Amino acid sequence: MRIKLNPISSMLISMLLGVSVGLLLNQMRNGGIEILHLISDWLVIYVFDVLGQMFLSAMKVVVVPLVFVSIVGGCIQLRSPRKLTGIFTKTISLYITTTAMAVCASIVISNVLNIGQGIQFSNLGGFSTQEAPAIKDILIGIIPDNPFAAFAEGNMLQVIFYSLILGLAIINVRKDVGGVEEVFSKASIILLSMVKLVMRFAPLGVFCLLSKVFYEFGGEVIVDLIGYFVTVLLVLLIHVLLVYGGMFYFVTRSNPFAFFYRIKSVLLVAFSTSSSSATMPFSLSTLRSYLGNHNSTISFTIPVGATINMDGTAIMQGVATVFIAQLYGVDLSFNDYLTVISMATLASVGAAGVPGVGIFTLTMVLQQVGLPIEGIAIIIGVDRLLDMFRTAVNVAGDCVISVIVAHSKGKTYENDFVEA
Ligand code: ASP
Repeated sequence: MRIKLNPISSMLISMLLGVSVGLLLNQMRNGGIEILHLISDWLVIYVFDVLGQMFLSAMKVVVVPLVFVSIVGGCIQLRSPRKLTGIFTKTISLYITTTAMAVCASIVISNVLNIGQGIQFSNLGGFSTQEAPAIKDILIGIIPDNPFAAFAEGNMLQVIFYSLILGLAIINVRKDVGGVEEVFSKASIILLSMVKLVMRFAPLGVFCLLSKVFYEFGGEVIVDLIGYFVTVLLVLLIHVLLVYGGMFYFVTRSNPFAFFYRIKSVLLVAFSTSSSSATMPFSLSTLRSYLGNHNSTISFTIPVGATINMDGTAIMQGVATVFIAQLYGVDLSFNDYLTVISMATLASVGAAGVPGVGIFTLTMVLQQVGLPIEGIAIIIGVDRLLDMFRTAVNVAGDCVISVIVAHSKGKTYENDFVEA
């Protein structure tokens, strides 16, 4: 008898298996028996890591062309520069406001819980910093001087900027370039069909990625940092329930839990890949299949969100800043907190949606308020695990705000939401 699982069950089973196999291999590596150590290392390095990275690359391969055709196609469908500016302003303001709210919540909650008070750490080494980008460079860097270089390097802010300008230019000469709308719409159908092909391998990819993470980190690292770990999870949960859930209900008058349930497979992929950028094609294809009437809006909001909206990352940075300040006995002033809010929000705009990037842009936040960046060495042990949760929150935010922006175009969400 052949049992046929639906995609979501097979994904959940793969995740559970990935975590269990990873933890088992971690025990084999640390058990003191040489042969078991060698076998577990070999399996992870030459099998799981290879297959997991291949899956991630296959997801990422469509990202740049899809962002390009979605945004240009979305702009053309909007037909007027005024509508484009309206959606642009609404989307960006919502993304930035929710991120700033996320950092505020993380600062308040971690101060109330006093997470770093009285903890002693001897291990302060092991973190090599990367040069954090200056704000000035982020701003200048938004405009590409060579679009081909931007595409080749996968510089998403530049690709988005270039696509928007091209979309706007096409709107202005629409009458003279008839047929171009169809080219972009067909190109996006083809790319989304590629996404579906790649997603067939999701259960295997997810299994391999999670086994490797849990093999490397085991479970013990959480014990020392349980206060920090749980606080980040708590603020993530509060943000999803109150901010996303509240906004969603307030605008659409529909049940936010039903919506989260509908996009569960997208959230699981975000969790397993820890990359909002790699998940972007899948979020776009899922929301387009549900909200077909709003293709033009979603084609714009999802790629932009995957690039600039990282509330989960900003939450980790808020909690980490308070935690490190308390560990080192530094009192942060009100102005320092304002700096943390603006820097973490900017860092979320400037950071790429790939695994582990949030911990590097945290240097930018710590430096601005004069905290020692060596403090990152303390929390880095659990960062890979937290990355999975915060990426799921980043992606949930992109989806919620997309629905809100689409809904505010005068149609009701419930009427437009079709079961795929
Ligand atoms: N992994 C996160 C994302 O892709 C970024 C981060 O927080 O490191 O959204």
